[in-house]
Amino acid sequence: MDDIWDLKVLRDTYLEIDLDQLASNVAAIRRHIGEDVALCAVIKANGYGMGAVDIAQTLIENGASCLSVANLPEAMELRKRDSSWPIWVMGHTPDRYLKVAIENNIELTVFTLSQAEQIQEIARTKDKIQRVQIKVDTGFNRLGFKTTRKDLKSILNIFKFPNIKVAGFFSHLALASYEEDLMQLKRLLNLKPYFETYDMERAVKYHICDSISAIAYPDFRLDMVRIGAALFGAKSYRYPDFPVKTIAKFKTRISHLKTIESGEGVSYDYKWRASKKSLIATLPFGYADGYPRNMSGQGEVVIEGSRYPIIGVICMDQCMVDVTELEGAHVGQEVTIFGSDAISIDEISQKSGTNKNEILSRLMQRVPRIYTKSGNIDHIRNDLL
Ligand SMILES: *Cc1c(COP(=O)(O)O)cnc(C)c1O
Repeated sequence: MDDIWDLKVLRDTYLEIDLDQLASNVAAIRRHIGEDVALCAVIKANGYGMGAVDIAQTLIENGASCLSVANLPEAMELRKRDSSWPIWVMGHTPDRYLKVAIENNIELTVFTLSQAEQIQEIARTKDKIQRVQIKVDTGFNRLGFKTTRKDLKSILNIFKFPNIKVAGFFSHLALASYEEDLMQLKRLLNLKPYFETYDMERAVKYHICDSISAIAYPDFRLDMVRIGAALFGAKSYRYPDFPVKTIAKFKTRISHLKTIESGEGVSYDYKWRASKKSLIATLPFGYADGYPRNMSGQGEVVIEGSRYPIIGVICMDQCMVDVTELEGAHVGQEVTIFGSDAISIDEISQKSGTNKNEILSRLMQRVPRIYTKSGNIDHIRNDLL
């Protein structure tokens, strides 16, 4: 790495993010869903740890028609970067912050009449037309209007507000079983005839799919799909051949090496003791970088193409690896923690008892992100500097 780049990293543990792979993942998803279905790129939680503002342009350039996030601060981070990106908050925006969203052209999610009334009032005083997505609870029981007569009446009223444009109706699948997912889909589609007369331009988008369902259920894609995990290469275990690949490699370098004698313990509580004379490498990453602490005793890293076990308890900032079998081990030697073919994010999530999204979205701010394009460094994000 050149010196100018190195000055933005300042540590040996970093995340390498391949923007070309991101572009090909988006292209693969676009091909799969077809021309008539819009692609909303979900980049909440700092783009699943990938750096929302750093990947947004690549997503837009490769066919994402909107960027969605969970909350208003996430939307504002994107808006500060680009005034033209279409940005939508999928979650709840508290009433007292609606004004900020409207002033910054951020699309909102609405699921009560009172929210809509306040949006109407603010938009009117600012002489704006505010776009909203109406959330419908078809059975997930998280957010949304129910499909009761009373709630349908509320939705009808929203269509009549002059300063609100209803841009979509959406719901979210529980993915518990196909039959129940189908029931949820039907509840959403049942609204269509009811509101068609109010959708003068036929511009209201209906959508219900996330990554898994967009891939699994072609008939559910409707007007748009909301894709997060698949953008970053996560595949459903049901579709191992879906042509997306992990875009991030989590890497570090050996910071120290020592030989210990049989019977010596390593790390807190001596949960691991050497059964013979052993060569131990110290690595400068720990659970405060986002690597799960419960990988202690079961995690492995890859050095020169082979696996080496993480031994003893993983510390906050460091962990130890048994490299007795590694010939020519040296300080500064490159180590892959996960993200390569050799050691997948899937493996880490399964061993640590969580899902891939949690592993990625918990990668901490203190891990610098190095973005590559055409084999070169495109830019580096280090939020600490
Ligand atoms: C997070 C989220 C998605 C994307 O889910 P993935 O499984 O990552 O594709 C879609 N819709 C909503 C409402 C979400 O909150």
